[in-house]
Amino acid sequence: MHRPILAVLLATTTAACATTSVMETPPIAQPAQTERMVSPILTSPEAVDTQTFAQPQVARVTHVDLDLALDFVGKSMGGTAVLNVLAQDDADNIVLDSNGLRIDRVTDAAGNALQYTLGETVEGKGAPLTIMMGNARKIRIAYRAAPDADALQWLSPEQTAGGVHPYLFSQGQATLNRTWIPTQDSPGIRQTWQARITAPKPLDVVMSGVRQGEPVDTGDGRRAFTFVMDKPVPPYLIAIAAGDIDFAATGPRTGVWAEPSVLARAAKEVGDTEAMVEAAEALYGPYRWGRYDMIVLPPAFPYGGMENPVMTFLTPTFIAGDRSNNGLVAHELAHSWSGNLVTNAVWGDSWLNEGVTTYFENRIVEEVYGKKRASQEAALMFANIEETLAEVGTHAPGTALSTDGEYELGSAIAYDKGAFFLMTVESIVGRERFDGWLRQWFDNHAFQPATSELFYEDMMANLVRSDAEAKSLSLREWIFEPGLPSNVAAPDPAAFAEVDRAVGIYAKSGTIPAAWAGWSSAERQRFLDNIPKERTAAQLATLDDALGLSGSGNNEELFLWLELALANRYDPAVPQAESFLATVGRAKFVRPLFETLWEQGDWGRPIATSIYATTRGSYHSVTRRGVDRVMDESE
Ligand SMILES: [Zn+2]
Repeated sequence: MHRPILAVLLATTTAACATTSVMETPPIAQPAQTERMVSPILTSPEAVDTQTFAQPQVARVTHVDLDLALDFVGKSMGGTAVLNVLAQDDADNIVLDSNGLRIDRVTDAAGNALQYTLGETVEGKGAPLTIMMGNARKIRIAYRAAPDADALQWLSPEQTAGGVHPYLFSQGQATLNRTWIPTQDSPGIRQTWQARITAPKPLDVVMSGVRQGEPVDTGDGRRAFTFVMDKPVPPYLIAIAAGDIDFAATGPRTGVWAEPSVLARAAKEVGDTEAMVEAAEALYGPYRWGRYDMIVLPPAFPYGGMENPVMTFLTPTFIAGDRSNNGLVAHELAHSWSGNLVTNAVWGDSWLNEGVTTYFENRIVEEVYGKKRASQEAALMFANIEETLAEVGTHAPGTALSTDGEYELGSAIAYDKGAFFLMTVESIVGRERFDGWLRQWFDNHAFQPATSELFYEDMMANLVRSDAEAKSLSLREWIFEPGLPSNVAAPDPAAFAEVDRAVGIYAKSGTIPAAWAGWSSAERQRFLDNIPKERTAAQLATLDDALGLSGSGNNEELFLWLELALANRYDPAVPQAESFLATVGRAKFVRPLFETLWEQGDWGRPIATSIYATTRGSYHSVTRRGVDRVMDESE
């Protein structure tokens, strides 16, 4: 069944893409080679993005051309954005998103001034920038981003590994790019883009677009870099990083950027990337973005990774020396299909990006590292869902995949429940049919936005074969209702049999597992996650002595140790927690550690307050906001 919920506003530029064989009359003209693909927008009620001021049915941005200068002294950037606009014939204004931007001048392509108004600021959403464009369909905005722009983090040399040069990176998801780019900042409004960026020598610049040639010396101690993204992307995927960075290839079409002193370790850790790309293509079709490169950023980066096209951004905290945290790379790579190719139209449907990707990630891990590791990682996800449901209530409204609420990153629901939904469907219809269906989902919705309803209808139309099968799948319950449906394909109970036995023995007799040294990181994490939460100082000391937890080179394990130690008011762990929180800005680690300290009242709150007083300024806005919420909680 097909419901006509797709609407292409002024689709003339894509019309000639239809195959000529089905046309009754020959096509009149092929689009010029330079004409860019215009992605459709969704107009169904559930696809309306409440986080944007844009009115894309009236006038929408199809291309962004940036010319920006990076100012590391003023910690700000400014320049121009030229926007191509597709609009109804009678549309005489366009509404853009903007947050904290200083608008200096708006003109048409010929340089004639255009009137504009900046509306009232709404918390978290910014302000509408309405431009009276008349007949103009190309507008030029001269502007400057604020020094405290939420998307941008300007690092001092001390916050880098090299310690000599400053560093900049951006994080746009979900609605932060409007703090440095005046455009329609909505995941359903795809835009091609290009950029010319100048930066002081000797800094290098990378973006989530293809770099064009070598940088050009501008004669004033700076160099200009140009980038092009010729595929329409949701604007949250426009990203930039600049610093003292070098490149190392990891395969014919993959490679990694990092600070010189980090590069060798980073390249070794992501050495399986080429194999991952091959595995992903074998599963769900061609990688459509050309190269797949990564940049390992300084530890202030607020996330594990961000799937910026052709340039995944990664935290250095995943580097363990043994590739044990490389599920992260598989995850960001998988986003090249789920998220970047087919994108949630609204953030309340973020499971379409994250759940599908988490499933896909697990399939890549299975191909590259084997079934055992994949089933162990799935079991950790399942434990995460169960823990979250136990915490918030098994039928709490926020536990549906499709929500109308705020986009919550790191949620066990969007990521892990989303993945288990697909694992369940796979287990019912069989892997072969499921894979065929998912591949056509990516192919048929490539470079387009999607909603939960569209996903459901596509499954009903292209996967489900009978009423009985539809009943056994419980698709609507999975997508639209809270909790975990009873048909869930639970993880292999044998995945952690040995570890769970060791947990039982340790809980009973305090016997430290002798097998620890040979365990995988997933097994160690399972152990640390499941041992009794209340430990005396003597027990913690014994555990640390035997397992070397405080000296772990794996940050996932170190984090679990610090969490356990702080929850038990273990003084010897405080200095290490302090230095960890002073260098690492990854929200996944930082927020829970502050939370744990905060929960320890008289003992932990003074420690948390004193650490945060010195570290707050070094965190990205994403991390800062999360910790602010923890510390603001009333007694
Ligand atoms: Zn993701």
